[in-house]
Amino acid sequence: MINRYIGADIGGTSIKLGIIDEEGNISERREIPYRSMEEHPDVMKYLIKGIRDLMDTCGQETGAFSGIGVSAAGCINSVTGSVADNGGNIPGWSHTEVVKTLREEFGIPASLANDGNCAILGEQWIGAAEGFSDVLGVTLGTGVGGGIITGGRLLEGSRGYAGEIGHFPTHAGGAHCICGLDGCFERYASTSALTRKASTADPDWDNGRAFFEAVSRGDETAKAILDEWITDIAYGIAGLIHVFDPQIILIGGGVSKQEDLLISPLRDKVLSMVMPDFADGITFRAAQLSNDAGIAGAVRYLISKEEFSNKM
Ligand SMILES: [Zn+2]
Repeated sequence: MINRYIGADIGGTSIKLGIIDEEGNISERREIPYRSMEEHPDVMKYLIKGIRDLMDTCGQETGAFSGIGVSAAGCINSVTGSVADNGGNIPGWSHTEVVKTLREEFGIPASLANDGNCAILGEQWIGAAEGFSDVLGVTLGTGVGGGIITGGRLLEGSRGYAGEIGHFPTHAGGAHCICGLDGCFERYASTSALTRKASTADPDWDNGRAFFEAVSRGDETAKAILDEWITDIAYGIAGLIHVFDPQIILIGGGVSKQEDLLISPLRDKVLSMVMPDFADGITFRAAQLSNDAGIAGAVRYLISKEEFSNKM
């Protein structure tokens, strides 16, 4: 019999849920907006209700599922299965005991991991990085997320905090970051950084679409801003390539659809910044799974934990 799991992905405004089997087939996707009415909703209450509804409508009892994998934003301690001091932009999220609560509620295995790490695991399992053992994932959005798989295993650090590449410093004495530090990679490489720069040059370029249209038209100012942004991203990636020697760089976020204007020039720029032996054979690719990455990766994380503990 094929094991089936529930995958959950908790973001700043909604919870995505789905059923995923051990071969990575996803069904019964749903999205629960939890922040539409309430200022400080109890996220765990929405999560538990969502999982219960999903089990009920699928006519399955709790025992028919082998576990619940949860991906979440915020600073996640995957060893304790709880949220650390910094709960990110999820209200009341700090110090929530996610795994303990789910185990008590449903009586089946559960796991919790950072959303950047889950996204990259999902892509390696059933997405754009399938078949690769050494993967560097960089998600360009409002901030910069990421994840690192090395030797086939997710790099977690001692508590699961690892892979937070948005907050490794790339600019000495640089701009102040939301995390409280200065000069972080995401202050320069996020799409917010791009939009900030673009809309200063031209107020009409306050969204990605308008800006990339200007670049496509050949607007010199827009092209220069894009080139500067790509250089900032490339600096960070080049540094990480020297540290981790990945086979593939996976670029995520809505902007990664810009193959000609982003992925391709970014690849050229990065390769010009790394030692030739490191550059040799590296693949650059856009992430593929979009909304499925978090739920799939959360389940892949749970399965890998079980495989690991079975070996002990
Ligand atoms: Zn930071």
